[in-house]
Amino acid sequence: LVSRENHPDRSVVRVGGVPIGPGTMTLIAGPCAVETPEQTLGAAQMAQAAGATLLRGGAFKPRTSPYAFQGLGEKGLRILADVRAETGMPIVTEVVDAHDVELVSSYADMLQVGTRNMQNFALLQAVGGAGKPVMLKRGFNATIEEWLMAAEYIAQRGNLDIVLCERGIRTFEKATRNTLDISAVPVAQRLSHLPVIIDPSHSGGHRELVLPLTRAAIAVGADGVIIDVHPHPEAALCDGPQALVDGDLRELAKTVRDLPPLV
Ligand code: PEP
Repeated sequence: LVSRENHPDRSVVRVGGVPIGPGTMTLIAGPCAVETPEQTLGAAQMAQAAGATLLRGGAFKPRTSPYAFQGLGEKGLRILADVRAETGMPIVTEVVDAHDVELVSSYADMLQVGTRNMQNFALLQAVGGAGKPVMLKRGFNATIEEWLMAAEYIAQRGNLDIVLCERGIRTFEKATRNTLDISAVPVAQRLSHLPVIIDPSHSGGHRELVLPLTRAAIAVGADGVIIDVHPHPEAALCDGPQALVDGDLRELAKTVRDLPPLV
């Protein structure tokens, strides 16, 4: 279903009216985690002023340590909905448990399946039946074929509004959190008709890497980028070192506008 063999034209996925697909280079930005109404609105306003058209933000956070901030849950979803009402930006937010799909879908414009859940088949089937576009992140230990098979689980439930997101894979390299597999973009686009975006924030893990990795994404023809921003990264409850502040985000957005995407 997601293969290009029977579907030669590359697809455009619309999220609350915002297209992601060939030639779009959609900018998705927002906080890694929803922490407070002020922090979320502040991040959204920064994102929107820079030209981002979709707001990201996690209310359910899949953290490596059980002692780390796990997200605000439904309270976080309500904050996102309020910020959407204020800014008009459609929301992309993660769901980590099949039992929460209905709840998260009642707030989200796009459901995100994170790297740790790429092969959580019950979750994939549940999001496939939720009637919302899905962003499927590549598992940090998954091959491209496994990633596309995971997308197939969603598609099998009748949902072809899937965006693939390359967010880095685990290698021996320790200088970055994960290694952004930039070749995954053209490879996945050759094998599948689905849009492919990259997450330079979670792959690199450092804000200095976000702009160069975004340039690389544009150069290989990615259909968009998803970026962490925070009004006060030093106080962030999640992944502060990778969050962009206002000026960095505006520079990144200018780069996205100035470098014509490959179609
Ligand atoms: C995220 O985008 O909030 C996130 C946790 O990403 P990943 O699943 O790629 O680690």
